Formats: sequence, structure tokens, C-alpha cells
Amino acid sequence: MKFNTKTIHGGQEHDPAYGSVMPPIYQTSTYAQSTPGGHKGYEYSRTHNPTRNALENALASIENGKFGLAFGSGLAAIDAVIKLLKPGDEVISTNDLYGGTYRLFTKIFEGFGVKFHFIGMENASKIEEYVNPKTKLIWVETPTNPMMNIIDIKEINKISKRYNLLLAVDNTFATPYLQRPLDLGADIVMHSATKYIGGHSDLVMGALVVKDEGLAERLYFIQNASGAVCGPQDSFLALRGIKTLHVRMQRHCENGEVIARYLKNNSAIEKVYWPGFEDHPNHAIAKEQMDGYGGMISFVTKGSDYHSAIKIVENLKVFTLAESLGGVESLAGHPASMTHASIPKEEREKTGVVDSLIRLSVGIEDVDDLIADLEQAINKIY
Ligand SMILES: *Cc1c(COP(=O)(O)O)cnc(C)c1O
Repeated sequence: MKFNTKTIHGGQEHDPAYGSVMPPIYQTSTYAQSTPGGHKGYEYSRTHNPTRNALENALASIENGKFGLAFGSGLAAIDAVIKLLKPGDEVISTNDLYGGTYRLFTKIFEGFGVKFHFIGMENASKIEEYVNPKTKLIWVETPTNPMMNIIDIKEINKISKRYNLLLAVDNTFATPYLQRPLDLGADIVMHSATKYIGGHSDLVMGALVVKDEGLAERLYFIQNASGAVCGPQDSFLALRGIKTLHVRMQRHCENGEVIARYLKNNSAIEKVYWPGFEDHPNHAIAKEQMDGYGGMISFVTKGSDYHSAIKIVENLKVFTLAESLGGVESLAGHPASMTHASIPKEEREKTGVVDSLIRLSVGIEDVDDLIADLEQAINKIY
């Protein structure tokens, strides 16, 4: 089955009760038993819920995996992955990553004795310097947030296989429409389903997909034991989101390209970060491992400082100034004071997240309106 069919049918069956085309929202915590243990496959909704299961099957299908797990947020999904480890274990992670992931790693799990090394992975061989017998996991985000660096999953996978490490990829920015990490050798693919998977800015959710049954069992155990599951209503919404993922992503990519090129040709703009440019340092890898370049763009205006960046995002009218990304509506953000405020200024500037950086999540509106909006906001400063 091809991707555009999988989003609609993959892993999905019509509901056995009445043949409803979409799964019902099984808004229940528990299930009647005829005798202790005599149930129809469902006992308690933390463990299993039919609506959540329908979503989990769809997630597994679109990521070319076998097992899907849905959580109450992206961070809850990451939390479950790190709970595969124990005190003393070490993780090698990309250094340019979602601020909340960095906060979870350093402020929660370092306290439990897990050690994290944050490094640039554009050059995969650099990872080997950090591998030792305690290393258990490589954590990769690509494209990275917000600098749009591209990391070669296949190359990293060679290292993870050589040293028998788990490789997890945060696929939130690319989505399986553009990139399928499990096909490139990753063991775990993770999503903030809050973003493109849900796609309508109406839920907070996380997901994991794996191929290996043993690994899936360990993660299902953690999902149930820690209990950070999502509810049936949100599962339904995410499943509905998946049904249009491919058409939304197609438009996100088209609009993203037009806006990236507009910004690049604008004399007020110093630098545009978008992996579709031929002069992007990792363009060749992006071209090989992705089927398009997505709708996430970051840029810095000429001579801009903290205040003028803030002015620009405040002046936008069609773009909404907000955290998050991946919805049908265009959003603009100021990473230094918003999504990445939890990373110390020094750390953040090392990776390019300067005070003047603006990040766009390009939506699926008419691109002319989006460009006119950027134009008027930038012209108020320049
Ligand atoms: C938003 C985001 C997360 C965290 O997901 P939540 O659903 O907000 O918990 C993790 N990784 C990336 C790349 C994100 O954009």
C-alpha cells in the first residue's frame, strides 16, 4: 500500500459492532467482565482502549513499523523511551533539539543518574568519540528545531548497529510523509503528534513506533506502568488528522518553498534556514533521506536584535504568534524567548539560536496572503 492510501486505510478496520467507518470514541475507563478475566480483550483503559488502539495501528502503518504507542504528549513518549534505561547508562543526543526534550533529559533524567552527551551530529563519525560501554541510546532529531540541520540517519545507524545501541529519531518535523526513520535503520520513531500528525492545533499527544516485538513489549509495559496515555477523544482527533496528513504536508511543503525563497531574496533578511536550499550545508542528505523539505523555516533579519525580532512577530497578522507548529494555520515564534527559553543562552547560541532568530511554521493558507503578511511586518522595521 502506498503512503497516500495508508494514511486513510493503513492498520484500519471498520468497527465490528455496526461497521462505522471511523472508530467510535470509546469514552470508557473500564469494560464489563462475565467472570474474572472473562473480557473481550479490554480490561482497563490505561492498558488498552479501542479508539487508542485504532490510532496506534494507524501510526504503526504510516511509519512502516509494526507497533504503535500513543501517549498524553510528545514528552511523555520521550519519557517512556528514556525509562528503558537505568542509572549509569549514557545517551548521545543531538545538541540542537527541542527545548522541552533538553529539559526532560537534563532536569529530570540526569537526576536519576542517566548521563547525556549533547553533540552536533552533522558529522556522524564524531559520535564514536562518545561511545563507551555505558552508552545505550542515540537520540536524533532531524530536521533539528529550530536550526533545520539535517542528520544522516543511515550513517548514524551504522554506528548504533556497530556498538549495539538503540537509535531513536524524533520525526515530528518531517512526519512519515517526508521521512521514514525505521526504513533507514532506526529502532524507535517518536512524534509530538500535537504537531503535524494531529495537524489542527486541537490536541496534545505523543507517539512511538517500533518494529521489534521485544522492544515493543518493553515500551507497552512502561506505557501501562507509568500511565502517560492519551484519552479516547484525542485519539479520535489524531486519527482524523492522519487521514489528511499527506494532502496537508503536500501544501505545507509547497508554501514552505515559496516562503523560503521569498525570504532568501529579501534584502532585509540576513539568513534563512531551510533544508531545500542547495547551499544548505546538509542539503544532499536532506535530498536523499527526505521526500521534500517541509514547512518549517527559520530566519534572521539584517542587523536585527532581540527587540526588532520581537517587533516583527508582534506585527504579523495572518501568522499567529504562538508556540507549537504543524497545524493548518501559520504560526511564528521567537525561539530564544519561547520554545527554547529553557536552554541557557550560552548553550543555545552555540547552536545558532540567537536572540534575533524567528521560526515559522508555514500553514496551508493561500501563500500570497502569507507573503504579504511577512512583507508588511518586516517593512515596519526596515
Ligand atoms: C513539540 C515537540 C516535542 C514535545 O512534544 P509535546 O507534544 O509538546 O509534549 C518534541 N519534539 C519536537 C521536535 C517538538 O516539536
